[in-house]
Amino acid sequence: MSPLIQAGRTAVDLLYPRRCPFCHDVAPVGKDACPGCLEELPYVEEPRCRKCGKPVDEAQVFCEDCMETRRSFEEGCSAFVYDDKLRETIRLFKNKGRAEYGSVLGRLLYLYARRELKRWEPGCILPVPVHEKRLRARGYNQAELLAREISSLSGIPLRTDVLLRVDQTTAMWGLDRKGRKKNLRRAFAVKEEALPGRVLLVDDILTTGSTLDACAMVLKAAGVREVYFVTVCTGGGEAARY
Ligand SMILES: [Zn+2]
Ligand SMILES: [Zn+2]
Repeated sequence: MSPLIQAGRTAVDLLYPRRCPFCHDVAPVGKDACPGCLEELPYVEEPRCRKCGKPVDEAQVFCEDCMETRRSFEEGCSAFVYDDKLRETIRLFKNKGRAEYGSVLGRLLYLYARRELKRWEPGCILPVPVHEKRLRARGYNQAELLAREISSLSGIPLRTDVLLRVDQTTAMWGLDRKGRKKNLRRAFAVKEEALPGRVLLVDDILTTGSTLDACAMVLKAAGVREVYFVTVCTGGGEAARY
């Protein structure tokens, strides 16, 4: 970065200080997170589920969810365990207007998943879409902000006009797993056009994986051969998504 641009950035930081996404204090000048906070992040380590990347016990190859359900996606991974700290990060990022967190989280996710991205070779990146109503209330789709960052760091093109949210899913309460699956699948649609054989989905959090599964299912019905995903966090149960 040229000294002039760096000086400009510093001035902007002083005028509009960025907050660290992990402690929510003002980040050091010229930085978007505190070095101390970055060192303490709860990265997902091996052993991970071979399918969805969730942390598993030493003896397990797949997590409980992946053993019980036939997945429509090929494989995916998440950078962090969804602990109390990350829960607050995601809450502010998603519901409280902290759109600025998207670039830090997207960068960390890219760095974590870099090797997998090379192996998967997706032809494009698709953010998991949100309801129109939520989009209007929030002003942005958090998954798209993450996807944008990963796209600019990896060079993989971002497509926001392919995977669409078409329907407010009716209440999930009282539905069994199969019912929920069917209900979720109706929530997504793919704009028919020439799609690459392999795509990468991006979202903020993986809970049971049913949302990503529903997206993968409609993408495959539209001719995509392999669907991969990355999310910032993993874990948290079904309640975290709604
Ligand atoms: Zn911090
Ligand atoms: Zn799994």
